[in-house]
Amino acid sequence: MAKNMALKIALIGVGKIAIDQHIPALANSAQWDLSAAVSRNEKVDGIDNFTDFKTMLDARSDISVVSLCMPPVPRFEYAKMALDAGRHVMLEKPPGATLSEVYALHDMAKEKGLTLYATWHSREAAQVANAKKYLADKKLKSLKIIWKEDVRRWHPGQEWVFEPGGMGVFDPGINALSIMTEILPTPIHLKNAVLQFPENRQTPIAAYLEFTHPDGADISAEFEWRHEDLQTWAFEIGTNDGSLILNEGGAKLQINGVEQSQPASDALAGEYPRLYANMAQLIANGESDVDTSPMRHVADAFTLGSRKVVPAFNF
Ligand code: NAP
Repeated sequence: MAKNMALKIALIGVGKIAIDQHIPALANSAQWDLSAAVSRNEKVDGIDNFTDFKTMLDARSDISVVSLCMPPVPRFEYAKMALDAGRHVMLEKPPGATLSEVYALHDMAKEKGLTLYATWHSREAAQVANAKKYLADKKLKSLKIIWKEDVRRWHPGQEWVFEPGGMGVFDPGINALSIMTEILPTPIHLKNAVLQFPENRQTPIAAYLEFTHPDGADISAEFEWRHEDLQTWAFEIGTNDGSLILNEGGAKLQINGVEQSQPASDALAGEYPRLYANMAQLIANGESDVDTSPMRHVADAFTLGSRKVVPAFNF
């Protein structure tokens, strides 16, 4: 498809994820034409740049889609404004600061006949679909999530992650939960949780979760944000018919110790190119995709989890 036939899109909030992933994914896609950016601090070369969202919406009625890349707390107001202005909306993960605001956006999009896409980029990692396929007809015995990373390395100076609504270690942890809810054929629910809050912070820096599975499988998750050694984003899964290790955030998969190879030619290599292809398809079909199940587990952890205060954390 020629770029002049592509869907015009604006990026709102030009920070780490917009620069690392969204801009390159859009630049390399024939389906999309990145036509404008809205940022209070940055400019994107070669396109229309705005510092105010409303001004962009008024000035560029030809742009039918916006992709919101700011942290979760301010996102609802931007999404509402975009839907009110008749634009399709793509949301970074987590889709909002609360479940209720995400449901409200979904209702608004439905009422206006617009597409709302609550993206979960980790679900698009290379081996997630294969893990899901393998588990579809197996009896689950155990599933252990180990998500251990260094917040200073991945979120340098991003104070918002420790502010209310920033979710703390659930900001990466929700990626694991998005994979878990995608690959398991049956829904599960939280049984108990322990959340560790630094004494100077509003959100947890570590979390330990246990879930109830309908067949009694042993399911747990460990999220740790003070981990400086080998960064680990892994699932260890046992079934009645073999074991899986889904590693590197879903990019690698071993089944019974054998590494699964990726398809020889994957035209949509990478999580964000696949997200944008999904968005184009949703718009073409006149549909939305708003799955809140990963966020529900996080909300449950905040509701049910016991709270442990740990030493102060500073970047
Ligand atoms: P970030 O760099 O700290 O912030 C992104 C941008 O959001 C900022 O540069 C700023 O844009 C805008 N922004 C910040 N606070 C705002 C406010 N109060 N009102 C309006 N705009 C505001 O964050 P990020 O790492 O890109 O993360 C953004 C979202 O992407 C989060 O939900 C995160 O979970 C998700 N995500 C992040 C990563 C990652 O590796 N960092 C990976 C996947 C998903 P301007 O200065 O341009 O106005």
